[in-house]
Amino acid sequence: MSLLQIAEPNQSAKPHAHRFALGIDLGTTRSLVAVVRSGEPQVIGDKVSECQSSDNNTNDNDDSQIANQVKGIDCQKLLPSVVYFGLDDNGNPETLVGSHAEAMAEQAPNHTVRSVKRFMGRSIKDIKFNHPYELVGDVDVMPSIQTPQGAKNPVEISSILLKHLYDRAKLALPDNSIVGAVITVPAYFDEAQRQATRDAAELAGLNVLRLLNEPTAAAVAYGLDSDAHLEHDQNYVIYDLGGGTFDVSILRFSQGVFEVLATGGHTALGGDDLDRLIVKWAKKQLNIEILDDTEYAHFLLAARQAKEALSDVDYVELKVLDQTLELDRANFEAIIKIALDKTMSVCKRVMRDAKLEINDIQNVVLVGGSTRSYAVQKVVADVFQQEPLCTINPDEVVALGAAITANQLIGNSTDGALLLDVTPLSLGLETMGGLVERLISRNTAIPVARRQEFTTYQDGQTAMLIHVLQGERDLVEHCRSLGRFVLRGIPPMTAGQARIEVTFQVDADGLLMVSAKETTSGVHAQIDIKPSYGLSESDTERLLLDGYKFAEEDKHLRHLHETKIEAQRELEALEQALKVDAILLTTEQFADLNQATVYLTTQLATDDIQAIENAVEKLKIHSDAFAALRMNQHIDQALKGTKLNDWSNSN
Ligand code: ADP
Ligand code: MG
Repeated sequence: MSLLQIAEPNQSAKPHAHRFALGIDLGTTRSLVAVVRSGEPQVIGDKVSECQSSDNNTNDNDDSQIANQVKGIDCQKLLPSVVYFGLDDNGNPETLVGSHAEAMAEQAPNHTVRSVKRFMGRSIKDIKFNHPYELVGDVDVMPSIQTPQGAKNPVEISSILLKHLYDRAKLALPDNSIVGAVITVPAYFDEAQRQATRDAAELAGLNVLRLLNEPTAAAVAYGLDSDAHLEHDQNYVIYDLGGGTFDVSILRFSQGVFEVLATGGHTALGGDDLDRLIVKWAKKQLNIEILDDTEYAHFLLAARQAKEALSDVDYVELKVLDQTLELDRANFEAIIKIALDKTMSVCKRVMRDAKLEINDIQNVVLVGGSTRSYAVQKVVADVFQQEPLCTINPDEVVALGAAITANQLIGNSTDGALLLDVTPLSLGLETMGGLVERLISRNTAIPVARRQEFTTYQDGQTAMLIHVLQGERDLVEHCRSLGRFVLRGIPPMTAGQARIEVTFQVDADGLLMVSAKETTSGVHAQIDIKPSYGLSESDTERLLLDGYKFAEEDKHLRHLHETKIEAQRELEALEQALKVDAILLTTEQFADLNQATVYLTTQLATDDIQAIENAVEKLKIHSDAFAALRMNQHIDQALKGTKLNDWSNSN
């Protein structure tokens, strides 16, 4: 059953021509594009070789060619996520993509951009990792990278990679048959990072059908979403060990919806670290203290090739500096243990966050090139006490899942479950007293729209500030501000009379649009949330954890704020009433009322809920009496001489 079928007008040239939709894995180190053809998801290779070690490259080293053959990876399918910005001999811009760019990295490290994904939707403040680039731009916006071609924005750089993949797909598929694409993003990506990715895709000319979480895509590739008929919720662990990053996600699949229960990882832990560990070991074996840069690079390459070869054979020889070292699987396992232990402690923490036990997990999916290593598979199997799923190429699994989703979205296939994702954090707006009113709570399936009515707080109020927030806490100051706008032109009315309808709409990519409308006058305002910088992964985690940790404290604070607001309302109403009817009070009554007012005002300055509530009670004794007097007076006027008491007695 497919719930969301997106009909794209004006896309297909001929009504009956087959339409294709792409799945794109825009990876930190490598990217690829896949499509469902004849019912089969498959990765699209490059017609023009991307691969240094193949055909016409005569002076290339033989080792890498052998290694490529041994590991059996079709490297033409994997596009290194690298873009080189230079100038040719005539001073004209020269831009290289993929392995051609990679070849320039040594020579021009400052403007051969790798791992641009780490910069997406981030501000300079967020960028705490090492990189060789000169960043330009204000502190709180996404910085650009300085190159001989001028400053290049991360969105623009990503779009070059995406366009390259798009062009590949165009070459492989019939003209005008590509309807759109699903692009994958890490589960922890926030609104800003997702928006940046979407912008990059649109800049590349792609019609973005959906941004999809990488772990969700991997689960889809294994068909873990077609267990929709299952009565019980299914929990899946997606273990993704790539070149430079480690991500683990726990997904719950329940009634057709994938929910991200928890995520964790390391932004600097991956296959590269395994290579470094092998180099360290090799240095020790050979009694080498120091390696110069060239030697180190050589060692690293040899280590990497040995590591990759060990995924297919039990034993390899590592040739470095005219010496040969023997490395077998058991040895390799011992060498990289320290790195794998780190990934396991992250897994355990994430399991705790998700409040799950090992036997709650139905499947473990392996993603990322490094999970080809037998040692990695073994450790994962040990910890989760089950054989992980690794039959689909771990480099391709995310792109394949994205292609399957894309194919469903354009209505080509009705297999699989509902293609729903969820909001990672709650969304809400600021109300009186610095409180957050949540409109959409965390883990709500998207797309979703929620509407709620609000009203004015003051008489004659003609404008209202709509402040949009993200987070799990009750107070504005503890959540993240996503944006604000003002709804103006509200007709002046008594406080509480205006009807302001606020709508939060999250589209299928998790992007938010907020609109506000005063229903009696029809005045209307709205914003698309496009923050200029993003939350870091750890910030998202912190916001989530804070939500749990401070639940009690928040309850107290919310109670306090609400008590204060109630008290202020009471005081304001009284003040208004006194302006009109103070004359009804005796001097004594007036003094009592005044004293109670002053007392409440003093208590309001404290944070003592009980004291404020008591003061409100005291004030109410006097103000209720005053209200009765006023009522009598009004009814007097209305009923010409009948007292309230008489009137109510007669009923
Ligand atoms: P990312 O998702 O970070 O872009 P990948 O998932 O493509 O990265 O993984 C790249 C890593 O996988 C590199 O460290 C590479 O050495 C490693 N790798 C590739 N093939 C193998 C293999 N056959 N055995 C072990 N590791 C491999
Ligand atoms: Mg990856």
